[in-house]
Amino acid sequence: MARDSKYDILFEPVQIGPVTAPNRFYQVPHCNVLGHGRPRAEAANRGVKAEGGWGVICTQEVEIHPTCEYTPFVEGRIWDARDIPQHRLMTDAVHAHGALAGIELAFNGHHASNLYSRVAPVAPCAIATDGGHPIQARAMTKRDIADVRRWHVEAARRAREAGYDIVYVYAGHDLSILQHFLKPQFNKRSDEYGGSLENRARLTREILQDVKDAVGHECAVAFRFATDELRGEGGLRAEVEGREVVEMLAELPDLWDVNVSAWDNDSATARFEPVEGYQEPYIAFVKQLTSKPVVGVGRFTSADAMVSQIKRGVLDLIGAARPSIADPFLPRKIDEGRIDEIRECIGCNICAAQDNISAPIRCTQNPTQGEEWKQGWHPERIEPAASDDHVLVIGGGPAGLECALQLANRGYPVTLAEATDRLGGRVSRECELPGLSSYARVRDYRESLLRKKPNVEIYLDNRLSAEDVLALEIPRVLVATGAHWRRDGIGKTLHFPVPGLDGADVLTPDDVLGGGNVEGRVLIFDDDDYYLGSTIAERCREQGREVVLVTPASTVSAWTVYTLEQHKIQSRLLDLGVEIVVSHALAEVEPGRAVVANVYHGSHRLDIEFDSLILVTTRLPDDALYNSLLEHEDRFSTLRAIGDCHAPGTVAAAVYDGHSAARHLESGKDIYAPLFNREIPALG
Ligand code: ADP
Ligand code: SF4
Repeated sequence: MARDSKYDILFEPVQIGPVTAPNRFYQVPHCNVLGHGRPRAEAANRGVKAEGGWGVICTQEVEIHPTCEYTPFVEGRIWDARDIPQHRLMTDAVHAHGALAGIELAFNGHHASNLYSRVAPVAPCAIATDGGHPIQARAMTKRDIADVRRWHVEAARRAREAGYDIVYVYAGHDLSILQHFLKPQFNKRSDEYGGSLENRARLTREILQDVKDAVGHECAVAFRFATDELRGEGGLRAEVEGREVVEMLAELPDLWDVNVSAWDNDSATARFEPVEGYQEPYIAFVKQLTSKPVVGVGRFTSADAMVSQIKRGVLDLIGAARPSIADPFLPRKIDEGRIDEIRECIGCNICAAQDNISAPIRCTQNPTQGEEWKQGWHPERIEPAASDDHVLVIGGGPAGLECALQLANRGYPVTLAEATDRLGGRVSRECELPGLSSYARVRDYRESLLRKKPNVEIYLDNRLSAEDVLALEIPRVLVATGAHWRRDGIGKTLHFPVPGLDGADVLTPDDVLGGGNVEGRVLIFDDDDYYLGSTIAERCREQGREVVLVTPASTVSAWTVYTLEQHKIQSRLLDLGVEIVVSHALAEVEPGRAVVANVYHGSHRLDIEFDSLILVTTRLPDDALYNSLLEHEDRFSTLRAIGDCHAPGTVAAAVYDGHSAARHLESGKDIYAPLFNREIPALG
């Protein structure tokens, strides 16, 4: 199909200094924890996006010198000439598809703990490092400042030699030393680098000029700048300092890459920023102050929203990190008139969580993310079917939907049976909770494609028993029947049933999402630490109920620190008037009353009265059907449990497992994927 002419504007080339982007689709720098530890995987990951039509593909943060390194986080590294060949892998992979390659040179000051180099970090002034370690950064001398300038120049030269077209100077996310110099809370210097905003911006100006002088004849020099910290007077503000910095440096960089800080605001989850283009109020002014092109982000997945940004003069280039992760082929799909095939980011930040854990990137929507080199997975291509065997997928949740879709893409005849009257499984229920509506995209993307496939039959309201399955005589069966929440309190913290829960009238998330009767004062015991406990608390408050949330962790939704949400969640619950009790676990329950004990000192106990008790602890697989079928294993050439039925986990894990099962259908009953490619250090 041809693209709709209203999107032509997105495919116009854009001049950026001495180079030309082939279109307006711009993958801004984003971490993937492949980096210097996994250079082949990094190259393949970025190369696929170039193939998918992104006109510019950037690296993640790239350390320019060992005096500022990000161990344990595996990002980019360009310390010396020995690092150039691995960058060449990436630039070659990007250039092979006609895209430009950009590198984000980074020197992160007191955001680096230097756990590998063991050198004392530096900062504008003496300050604790922000990695939570007992390490302080020392104040930079003039010699240090000269060194940092020189290291940027040397790294820029190496970047040019490695084939990069765009070289970044970085002042964003509260990570980079150049932003630290701009911030009065970190820069209390009394020399010409401190005091007025002009002085605080001096090092940025010098480095931008230095890098331009060094490589500007061949490479575009981009400036990544956070215009606002969303802290009001407590931080940099777009209408004050942001505007002044852009006015001061307007024509110096070849490209302005603008966003908001810190990373949790730039990569805000859909729970906290549901609307795409949410950064516009903070960046729209930039284009009025510079003639240079401007790129910005806002979780753009809609081609119309992108066109609107360009036509209204907000942006010249549509920046994307997460939308390019969820769908590396987003530009091509717009170009080819296949908009309904775009796999839209759901704004869950599982990708960011992997980075914060220092694990290679993964994505809820795109299970091939990070697997491009490791397993040779491509987001748009899959091995054709090896036979015309009929395949039965039981359960239409995230695992079953993804598995059925990929089997159908392979060309297998697929029957998908779902017990209820709608597809989606857990996401169809959870998307009704506050802030989670985008989770429905996991279902909608797959369901809409499946419904168009001639080789797929979908049966709703079909709860299959083992006898039903055996009677169908389908040789290959994938069981994706999901999981249910426990009612006995057992979870991460408690390993024996809580006294008094046996037979008690308690609710689980399944009951709450299934329309169960939540009444009066609600006590939520959250030992899951992810999003459900706090979203259920929000919903109960919306319904006007009194809510007490008890968690054994020391914060609410503790795991969401990785998805960049924890602070926002706790703050929202406090705003909503939820009573929060941390570091306590259920000790005993009787009708209308629970005793919770301090996890550090069990004799510290609190009595809490409730009308409804909701337990958000752990789940048990719904594997009874699978176990019954296992007794007849010899009647199947494939029989596997997938997704939560195999092992309860995240939606991302269920989608991944469904995808993997479809790719490895022929490996039959062997549930483990074949060995994958690993980067093994070469000796010698
Ligand atoms: P996952 O995340 O692994 O996909 P879900 O719990 O989201 O798991 O989805 C499981 C789906 O399987 C649900 O939609 C559920 O209704 C369906 N299901 C459970 N048991 C059966 C069965 N016996 N036959 C058909 N569908 C089933
Ligand atoms: Fe979007 Fe979630 Fe994928 Fe990240 S993990 S790209 S937020 S869908």
